[in-house]
Amino acid sequence: MRRAVFLDRDGTLLEEHNYVADLKNVVFFPYTIDAVRLLNQAGFAVVVITNQSGIARGIVRSSFVAEAHAFIDRKLREGGARIDGYYHCPHHPEGSIAEFTRECECRKPKPGQLRQAAADLDLDLQRSFVVGDRWSDVDVAEAVGGRGVLVRTGYGVQAAREDRQAAVIVDNLIAAVAWILRQP
Ligand SMILES: [Mg+2]
Ligand SMILES: [Zn+2]
Repeated sequence: MRRAVFLDRDGTLLEEHNYVADLKNVVFFPYTIDAVRLLNQAGFAVVVITNQSGIARGIVRSSFVAEAHAFIDRKLREGGARIDGYYHCPHHPEGSIAEFTRECECRKPKPGQLRQAAADLDLDLQRSFVVGDRWSDVDVAEAVGGRGVLVRTGYGVQAAREDRQAAVIVDNLIAAVAWILRQP
């Protein structure tokens, strides 16, 4: 079984834009490609996990998610980096699109996206990491016995002010990768 680093998308891998619904708002940080490539080279599976409640709310087309992930994939590949899987939750209990309006097991901090990835890619979740800009990203790591890292980009700027005991908080994704690569 492989170890994985799960990356939150908006605010972590990409700049935060409230409800990304257009490719012009799919914007990498200057270090995004290097961060993913370093994880590839270290032998981690790299998996994107993202809550996309904008789909349930009718703000984001459900087909846009695949479009955005293909775009991300292409840009990463040009830089010699690779994402091994993309997972998203389109649900929200207070949505406006009936099909996606419900409680579910895949909206972080529920671990559905991680469990699906583990089944698909044969991952060892207890030896894996989640990097994200919300405490729900850290919580989803803890829900499966893995370790979470909060970044101070996106919503992490505010979230980091609520310093939780024993939490790992770093400036951004490249700092999170540096921290992960130092762990035994
Ligand atoms: Mg985020
Ligand atoms: Zn869901």
